[in-house]
Amino acid sequence: MSEEKKQNVVMVTGGSGLVGTAIRKYIEETGATSVETWVYLSSKDGDLRSREDTEAIFEKYKPTHVIHLAAKVGGLFANMAQKVEFFRENILINDNIMECSRIYKVEKLVSFLSTCIFPDKTTYPITETMLHDGPPHPSNEGYAYAKRLIDTMNRAYAEEYGCNFTSIIPTNIYGPDDNFSIQNGHVIPGLIHKCYLAKKNNEPFTIWGSGTPLRQFVYSRDLAELTVWVMREYHDPAPITLSVDEAEEVSIKDVALAVVDAMEFKGEVKFDTSKADGQFKKTAANHKLRSLKPDYKFTSMKDGIQQSVDWFLANYETARK
Ligand code: NDP
Repeated sequence: MSEEKKQNVVMVTGGSGLVGTAIRKYIEETGATSVETWVYLSSKDGDLRSREDTEAIFEKYKPTHVIHLAAKVGGLFANMAQKVEFFRENILINDNIMECSRIYKVEKLVSFLSTCIFPDKTTYPITETMLHDGPPHPSNEGYAYAKRLIDTMNRAYAEEYGCNFTSIIPTNIYGPDDNFSIQNGHVIPGLIHKCYLAKKNNEPFTIWGSGTPLRQFVYSRDLAELTVWVMREYHDPAPITLSVDEAEEVSIKDVALAVVDAMEFKGEVKFDTSKADGQFKKTAANHKLRSLKPDYKFTSMKDGIQQSVDWFLANYETARK
């Protein structure tokens, strides 16, 4: 008699967002393993700020693995304006997911942190161990403290209950299915939308800030592939940074010019220096990733931006904006 293989249920919270959609497309393309069933949640399946809704979701799907992406996220300006909401909503969501993962005996929980929650005054490059070494930049302290507590609690759940919870630290993420809102979105989708409008209305393309800050960007498909690898093969409560190499850091001006090229925008490009720049840089080291996956090849910024612009143009009517 053949032994039946145990079926894993991988539940992705925030499955309708930028990273969640990239994971779904990656799994559809490459195929789930024969022992995995994938479930992608959006806020329509329940409000993860509510303990009752969260328990009902765990009861319904009985996940063995959880990739936890759902969060209240936004760009610099939204973070500055709503620190209370960024803190409270993320704390509620994360507490519900972690505690239900413990109660429902989830074998692996992978949550998402961010490089923008690291200490403001620090040395570079930032490594995973420096997360709690000082206060975050004041612009996003609500979001940052809520996210930092995921790491604290991953260690506490491992010590007290033996849970296999870990976290990923991505740098700035971009790609198809992003939120292209100019007011509330992140830098690349915001620039793509602005450049689109400048081209359509025959106006200058105005970039907020000086264009000098430096950032590392990771293409959503690359992050999806690496996240699935973390879920299957990285078993340590300590976070792991998933980022391009330090040499791949680019200025906001470089990014804006890549958008101009991809959009074939021929008008004037201006920088509005009356707008805040945020942190000058937050270079992250990916030594841990490189020690485990030395040969991984990231998508180039030029190709990633071209694919994001092509997606935005093809899906303009339905894109989040
Ligand atoms: P998105 O904003 O694209 O998606 C957010 C997701 O969370 C959506 O699926 C949304 O559902 C869901 N969600 C939000 N609030 C709730 C709620 N109360 N209950 C249930 N679901 C909810 O996020 P990203 O894909 O960009 O980000 C994924 C993770 O990566 C987040 O944890 C974020 O903090 C982190 N991160 C993101 C970075 C980036 O550059 N984007 C950078 C670094 C970290 P719905 O679609 O129904 O609203």
